[in-house]
Amino acid sequence: MTPARLGLFGGTFDPPHLGHVAALRAAAALGRFELIEVTVAGDPYLKGGGVRPALERLEMAHAAFDGLELVRVSDREIRRSGPSYTIDSVRELLDTTAQVDLIVGADLTDQLDGWREAAALRELVEVGVVPRPGGGAVHLRGWRYFEIPMTPVDLSSTFIREIAPDLENLRRYLPEDVIPFFVGTRG
Ligand code: ATP
Repeated sequence: MTPARLGLFGGTFDPPHLGHVAALRAAAALGRFELIEVTVAGDPYLKGGGVRPALERLEMAHAAFDGLELVRVSDREIRRSGPSYTIDSVRELLDTTAQVDLIVGADLTDQLDGWREAAALRELVEVGVVPRPGGGAVHLRGWRYFEIPMTPVDLSSTFIREIAPDLENLRRYLPEDVIPFFVGTRG
């Protein structure tokens, strides 16, 4: 299938959590996309070391997102050697897609200008911004963007890793099918 308009939701997903699920549901509900690709970062150059191996994060992403409407989990950034750059994924996708929109949490809007080939990226994509708690109105100077309405979900992978919650609490944060992987791989 060659979608006319694709949403690209990239992340480290260490682990994928219910905030990500809510963001994907909200993006699908826009009626704007024919497909939403979740791209799991191979080598998260902006986050440094200490993350789980890419194949474990990919497996968790499949467990978390495979059942969601319009969503396809991709290993394109894992197959590519070297660091993961969004611009590379966008260029690949534009070979078969008329329009690619990035879907990002509001916490990332301050960082976009520092991404690899930001000027080129700015020309190629529109940015759909999902709210995160505590964020105010979104202002993305120089980028074409739109807001994705959603009730903010107060969750991050960092929080889940750091509190390493007990099994009962994990159910409040992680999709059910992710729990066995997360528990099985936590250090
Ligand atoms: P970490 O805490 O390790 O930085 P994270 O929870 O931000 O991780 P990522 O995998 O880095 O998760 O994020 C992937 C994408 O999901 C990013 O665009 C991020 O902004 C977005 N995102 C993460 N958590 C939420 C949330 N609770 N609500 C909306 N978007 C989110």
